[in-house]
Amino acid sequence: MNVPKCPICQQSDIGILDGQLAVCRSCSKSKRCVFQFCLACQREWPHNSSTTKSCTLPNCALRAALLSDTKISDPQSSVRGCPYFRACPGCKALLTHNGRGCPNIVCPHCGRHICFRCLRERCFGEINIGAFALLRRSFILDDVSPCRVVDNKQNLTVLGL
Ligand SMILES: [Zn+2]
Ligand SMILES: [Zn+2]
Ligand SMILES: [Zn+2]
Ligand SMILES: [Zn+2]
Repeated sequence: MNVPKCPICQQSDIGILDGQLAVCRSCSKSKRCVFQFCLACQREWPHNSSTTKSCTLPNCALRAALLSDTKISDPQSSVRGCPYFRACPGCKALLTHNGRGCPNIVCPHCGRHICFRCLRERCFGEINIGAFALLRRSFILDDVSPCRVVDNKQNLTVLGL
């Protein structure tokens, strides 16, 4: 894991108080009140739960997995460069890809077909239709390039996590 950063100011001037509970010194200074946040899910620590050591915010573990920097690095894989974890856009289940085959996976929980790279449903890559292919009214395999790998930030926003 890399150096923990404050979710607000993105600086590492933080103190880890207990377990997942951290405090940002620079934000606390500028806000003139103690700014505490959860190291795992990167959200402000609820003020009413100061007695507990673990985060009580909903979807903490799910957010933590999606925010992690671990990426699929296998150069042979069709999902190279993708985060290790994805959330299903349909049911928010945590998903992984075994690295083999095409980027599309089926969510075991809701049966949705998801492209692990771009998170669209039933993606076949970016189809570049050339003039020649248009004339023939058919696609040539070379005209399909892989879709863009999106990061999980957008996914989190869309799912309201
Ligand atoms: Zn801060
Ligand atoms: Zn948390
Ligand atoms: Zn699902
Ligand atoms: Zn795709």
